[in-house]
Amino acid sequence: MTDIRGVVFDLDNTLLQSRLGAAAGLRVAASEISQELRKHGLPFSKLQVLRKLNVIERERRAPSSGLVPRNLYDRDNWWKLLLKDIHASQIPRQWIHKTTLQYWDAYQNSSPPFSDAEATVRALKQQGYRLAIVSDSDGTRGMKKKRVNAVPFRSLFEFTIVAGEDTPKVKPSKAPFRLVARKLGLSTEKCAYIGDNPQTDIAGAKAVGMTTILVKRKPYWVRVDDGDPLVMDPRPSFEINALREIPALLAS
Ligand SMILES: [Mg+2]
Repeated sequence: MTDIRGVVFDLDNTLLQSRLGAAAGLRVAASEISQELRKHGLPFSKLQVLRKLNVIERERRAPSSGLVPRNLYDRDNWWKLLLKDIHASQIPRQWIHKTTLQYWDAYQNSSPPFSDAEATVRALKQQGYRLAIVSDSDGTRGMKKKRVNAVPFRSLFEFTIVAGEDTPKVKPSKAPFRLVARKLGLSTEKCAYIGDNPQTDIAGAKAVGMTTILVKRKPYWVRVDDGDPLVMDPRPSFEINALREIPALLAS
């Protein structure tokens, strides 16, 4: 793969341990929402709310019922879905967006980089690869760039494309992948994209002709409920178990 000049990364669950952050965010949101419901005479415990939010999150990631649209990123809508589910849509909602901001705060503070992320990115930089990030919008405008800027080794990347904000649609649309190549001054064939999600990362990058590398972050690409693996469609060019495998893979 000696013709690869640009290496582009996904953020969540690829560079950052975002499953930890997502869990922390939901715990904070469940606490806030439980308090709001109690104010209006609806005695839902934090744990009861958390269980419902976990269902909404899981459905959003791997929809089975069709109740939750795929790629529903705006957390305001998660809390609204919950209210609808418990027939409490009538209660005042001025707390909704504040809860989303508290959620993202907890998410960011609890999503450390994977242990090999910085060393891998630093090695690629030293080898002369052009580096960038393509990540989907968090649904709250500006939030993803704020989170990227908090990454301790952010300065190793030239720039970030936020799909759904810098481009009309989120991954797997082709636009963010085309845009990152154009901004790097490279053809898409000279770029490799590294992500953890076959349906969004691999599908989008492959569609524009990039080399695709799937980092296997269980259980993100395995159904949590029944253990059935998701269909790996489309297939990535390469699968790796850890980011540290990338430099040798690109040099091969
Ligand atoms: Mg990801």
